[in-house]
Formats: sequence, structure tokens, C-alpha cells
Amino acid sequence: MTFVAGLLALTACTPAGTASVGPATAPATSAPAPAPVTTPQGPPGALPRDGEVRRLPRPGALPPVISSIPTKRKVVFLTIDDGWEQDPGFVRQIRERRIPITAFAMRDAVEAKGTPDESGGPARFVGAGKWGYFRQLRDAGVPIENHTLTHPNLSLLGYDAQRREICGSSSLIKKELGGRPTLFRPPFGNYNTDTLRAAKSCGMNAVLLWTATVQPGGKIAYQVPDKKLRPGDILLLHFRPNLARDFRILVNKIKRRGYELGNLRAYLKEHGVR
Ligand SMILES: [Zn+2]
Repeated sequence: MTFVAGLLALTACTPAGTASVGPATAPATSAPAPAPVTTPQGPPGALPRDGEVRRLPRPGALPPVISSIPTKRKVVFLTIDDGWEQDPGFVRQIRERRIPITAFAMRDAVEAKGTPDESGGPARFVGAGKWGYFRQLRDAGVPIENHTLTHPNLSLLGYDAQRREICGSSSLIKKELGGRPTLFRPPFGNYNTDTLRAAKSCGMNAVLLWTATVQPGGKIAYQVPDKKLRPGDILLLHFRPNLARDFRILVNKIKRRGYELGNLRAYLKEHGVR
């Protein structure tokens, strides 16, 4: 009987109106609420609104060269090149914060052949996961695009050699990651008409350049005199040491300035890139 009395005493402590029917322990023993149904998530990042993006004039014979997205909305796009430093903290941020970014993978960097880019400090994760790292990025929603096999200055190569660099990279990415790239970024931003012809023959729908680069510490180096972000800017980062830390600084800075991060693939489609 003392046990029952204890229960009644507990019941008495509950707020008025909550303990009128049934045993006092009911809330604790009832089945946990079912987990909310997870609706499939759309692509990460801001998506273009109807009529927001100016269309390309008309499809030409060669892939368009694009440095920024023609929009008036405060939206910018993040891209990251090469693949030397494979910081696991970066993948976690992308996955957990659903940050839209497009990666341009270069074979020799991903496979850690040659000299890494250590301009951000001493490297810790050079080639740590090889293509496995890019599979993790892919699984976190990052499109993996083409940035050649060996990072040459393409404008110094003939058509056939350029084609080997671009088509070879696409075939390798298809083999390692299962999807064939459709965007090409020329190393150093250097290209000529042969590059565009080769890119087209390797299945590239556009050549992607950039309007600003991101330096160690998350500092933005602009290619325009007024040193401001502009709607539609495409930012270029590299897989450098301290990437996870620098990336957090960068994303917070962009948001503080009132900009959203856009989904590049969706914006390119609105722009008229297949
Ligand atoms: Zn590069």
C-alpha cells in the first residue's frame, strides 16, 4: 500500500489537469514518438527563382566560358580545385551544414603525385584518402568535375595533348566515382580555342573560371577593383592545409555580408548550360 501511496503523491505533484486519467506512469512507459519521416532532401544551397538568371545568348559550337552567374540576387558559388590536402573536417562541414560546393579534381593532386600546394602552411592530410576522399565528397552531394590529369598550362599544348588531359581525367573520374564530369576548369585559367574544342569532344558542357580566389585564413582576393563580393561571383578555393578552419571563416564571412550560397549546377542549368 505504501507503494501506491507514493504513486499518488507523485501524481499530486503534476500540474493541474495532466493527471486526471490513467496511471501516473503512463507518459514514461508509452512508446517513444515515431521519428519524423525524413523527406528526401533537395540539392544543397539556394536554387534559382524563375526568370532570375539571364540566359546565354544562344548555344554556340563550343562550350561557353563562364566566370560568374548573371543574377542580381545576393548569391555566390563556391568551387574548390586540385585535391592535395584531404582534410576530413572539411567533408564533415560540407555534409553536416549542407554547403553547396563544386570540386574540380586533378589526378596528380588526388593521388598525391608530385609536390603539394602548401601555401596555407604545413600539410597534414596530403593524399590521405586518395579517390576515397572524393567518394566521400560525392556522397555529401559535391559534384566532382574535371581539372586535367597533370595540371599543365594547356595554352602551351597542342590539341591532341590537351584532349588527352581532359578526356583522360573524365574517364578516370568515371572509373573512380561512377559519374562523368560535364564541367571543365583549365589549370591557371589558361585556355585557347583548342582547349574549347578538346573540352567539347570530351563531353564538357562549359568551361568554368572564377571571379575571386580564397587565400589561407579565408581571405578573399578579388579580381575587381572595389574589393566587394558581387551577385553571381564564383569563388575559387584549393584543398590546402587548414582548409576546415579557413572554410568555416569564409562561409561565415559570406553569410555576414548577406549573401547566400548557391547551387552552381542548378544555376548553370537556368543559365542555359546543359
Ligand atoms: Zn588547379
